[in-house]
Amino acid sequence: MVKKTRYQDLDRLRSEIRNITLDIIAKVHRRMELAEQIGSIKDTLNIEIEDEKVEQDVRRSVSELSQTLGIDPAFSGRLLNMLLMESIRLQQIQQRPGDVHLRPTHLSVFMKAKDLETSGKKIIHLEVGEPDYTAPKKIKKALTESYDNKHYHYTDSRGIVSLRQAIARKVGRGIGADEVIVTAGGRFAIFSAILSMLKPGEEVISIEPSWPAYREFVDFAGGKMKILSTNLEEKWNPDPRRLDEMIDHHTKIIILNYPNNPTGKVLDKKNITRIVSMAKDSGLYVISDEVYSDYSFKKFTSLAEYKYDKSLVVSSFSKSCAMTGFRVGYGIANKEIIDKMARVQAIAMTSVAEPMQHAALAAIDYNSTGNVKLIQKRLGLIAEKLQNMSLDFTTPDGAMYIFPRLKGLIEDDATLVEKLLDLGVAVAPGSGFGQNYRQFIRISACQPEDVLEKGLEVIQSVLFTR
Ligand code: PMP
Repeated sequence: MVKKTRYQDLDRLRSEIRNITLDIIAKVHRRMELAEQIGSIKDTLNIEIEDEKVEQDVRRSVSELSQTLGIDPAFSGRLLNMLLMESIRLQQIQQRPGDVHLRPTHLSVFMKAKDLETSGKKIIHLEVGEPDYTAPKKIKKALTESYDNKHYHYTDSRGIVSLRQAIARKVGRGIGADEVIVTAGGRFAIFSAILSMLKPGEEVISIEPSWPAYREFVDFAGGKMKILSTNLEEKWNPDPRRLDEMIDHHTKIIILNYPNNPTGKVLDKKNITRIVSMAKDSGLYVISDEVYSDYSFKKFTSLAEYKYDKSLVVSSFSKSCAMTGFRVGYGIANKEIIDKMARVQAIAMTSVAEPMQHAALAAIDYNSTGNVKLIQKRLGLIAEKLQNMSLDFTTPDGAMYIFPRLKGLIEDDATLVEKLLDLGVAVAPGSGFGQNYRQFIRISACQPEDVLEKGLEVIQSVLFTR
């Protein structure tokens, strides 16, 4: 008898829970309709789709309600983030049907430029950050030896021990080989870390303008990107108070990238220390993308100095040794983080190709000073030309780029990029580095001076000659 009533209770509760679920879906549908209406108003008013302030406001209300009701705010926050992401996706489809993932970036311009080259047009490539100088000579021998010694097998997913030990020695600070993972470029170090650290709906804070791949990684992992915008007027310094306000229950990771792509900014130690201490207070992971650290023209502070147990420092052989196509980068973190990243790498690709790891080992002590000086000199030349055009920009503290604001006849990046491509010059549109940078372009210093000069002449003529 008792058993029978329990079954009846179960049926009743199940029916109630199903009805509530259907109610939630109906409400979600209504929410999406409203999001679309809002989207079309934003479109007519020419307002950006994402608005961090508005989102933060909703987040606060949801958090307060969750606390009153006794729901885990981390869970309700993740749920809210999924709703917000879906609204953004719908509004993007409205504005650019069929083209949601194609925010113009340096890579999309590069592809277009390549197509034009195939059809016979000559292009000056100022859009990509790919060093034009040769990779260290020593690696040629290492590759031959790899073949002769049959070093062409699967390896430990974290990389061969000799390379991990050599990287640990190079980084210093008492780091052991267990705290190093060799990855397929710096790119895969960041991607595997995000995949292993982030649950769907959790948040990552990124400081923009930034390398567009961070957003792609977070989107892929089902996470929510929160943007801390910086601007030219404040010399690309992030506002620590804004950052503090942005951190909440569901924030998991902060990504730093100094020297910065695209601005060339290197953050002062004081500011890094402040960010690390905020991260510590809230138990956040900090991923510090330091692939341009060799290219620092002022004192650079690596995150490795802080010995924070939730940090990941990422570096690469791509830029410092001109080895982009070898696809060897690395991450430095505690063993627990390294093992999680290694699992993702094992699933995706087993390991980095063994001969490439031996090539990287041969390049470990490569002295990049000559390359760094060369890039700095070229950046000086670009800066001088841009100054002559009276464009506003900050002189880069590092990396290989300059990020000027447009003025003159064209102030919109997409229009300028198209015009320049017609004239055989490829530059990276600012909007690829964040939605607030449509008035900027990124010029890369990875070409000889005479080529840079020609490219800049074309830019000047398009901006200032009627
Ligand atoms: N981080 C930043 C900021 C970059 O600009 C790049 C390459 N453009 C990378 C990481 C990845 O470099 P790689 O995978 O070749 O090491």
